[in-house]
Amino acid sequence: MNETKAREAICAIGASIFNRGLTAGSSGNISVRVEGGWLMTPTNASLGRLDPARLAKLDDSGRLIAGDPPTKESFLHRVMYEERSDTGAVVHLHSTHSVAVSCLAEVDPADVLPPITAYYVMRVGGLPLVPYYRPGDIALAEAVRGFAGRHHAVLLANHGPVVAGANLDAAVNAIEELEETARLYLMLRGAKTRFLTPAQVKELL
Ligand SMILES: [Zn+2]
Repeated sequence: MNETKAREAICAIGASIFNRGLTAGSSGNISVRVEGGWLMTPTNASLGRLDPARLAKLDDSGRLIAGDPPTKESFLHRVMYEERSDTGAVVHLHSTHSVAVSCLAEVDPADVLPPITAYYVMRVGGLPLVPYYRPGDIALAEAVRGFAGRHHAVLLANHGPVVAGANLDAAVNAIEELEETARLYLMLRGAKTRFLTPAQVKELL
């Protein structure tokens, strides 16, 4: 994707995410790999009101070369690009149902959500829970790095999901699938549920 189109796509998808209540206030951030580095949403910017001309442009070493300073959570994005060479875009949201699930005491930290639907299994697959660290703690980046090689989607405890994709559409579709599955999981809690069987999951993977 060329840089002009990438800038427009980030702003259009940011507005769509914000307007559907998938992240609130100035939370959430998006990045896309472009020639010579990355475009990233700026710090303290609402995804609902992004300006294509003011997106942060970082060079390959992560230095700001144009636009507003990047999100303070840029390290979450950098780790995904560094550990997954096929990554073209990364999305991180504070989406309500995913955050709710990230706070539950009794989930499997190796794979937080059960295989409720085939699309979840295909778009997200396994979802590890990354332990809680305070905002800005660089240890969080290293904790995410530990999972990023094996997982394109991780859930930060008491915080929210980070999802990488081959391109922006893939990353957004996966994080939306994750949020919907978190919502379904909360709706089904306490009800006797038929999840996909291990054989059915294996067939999808
Ligand atoms: Zn965050």
